[in-house]
Amino acid sequence: MVDLKDKDYVAIVQCHIVKERCSGYNCEKAFNERTGGFSAYPKDKAYRMLNLTCGGCCGRALQRKLSNLIRRIKKQEQIGKDRIVVKLASCLTKDNFHSSPCPHLDYLKSLITKLGLDMCEDTYIYEKSEKRRKEGLYNASSR
Ligand code: SF4
Ligand code: SF4
Repeated sequence: MVDLKDKDYVAIVQCHIVKERCSGYNCEKAFNERTGGFSAYPKDKAYRMLNLTCGGCCGRALQRKLSNLIRRIKKQEQIGKDRIVVKLASCLTKDNFHSSPCPHLDYLKSLITKLGLDMCEDTYIYEKSEKRRKEGLYNASSR
């Protein structure tokens, strides 16, 4: 269990394909309002936040991107990786009407783990989709 009170920096990883048409606004809004996947983040704490994509299937570029973040933030601001939390955006983690979860999710998680970074899942959560997920409406057999 990641203790978010110990973190100062949130790196949101979004699906590269989805970001071709999504600004990421709903992720940013959920973060700002501490809703959805951010509801456990203390409201009175001023986290820094960065958005990045996986770089495209199979997501291998993520390792280089996050390594770059770890190096630069350490060198320039002495922020250690223990103060960073990686947040996997809902477009990677959740099933919905438009698409299935990322087929490389386990691989992406293994890259993040290899870098020694803590991670959590989900960002913006659309209530209607969450209800449909609970009802099993996105199961392959019901499509
Ligand atoms: S979770 Fe939603 S708002 Fe965030 S990047 Fe993915 S599609 Fe865009
Ligand atoms: S690896 Fe997953 S998150 Fe990245 S572009 Fe492909 S489907 Fe999207």
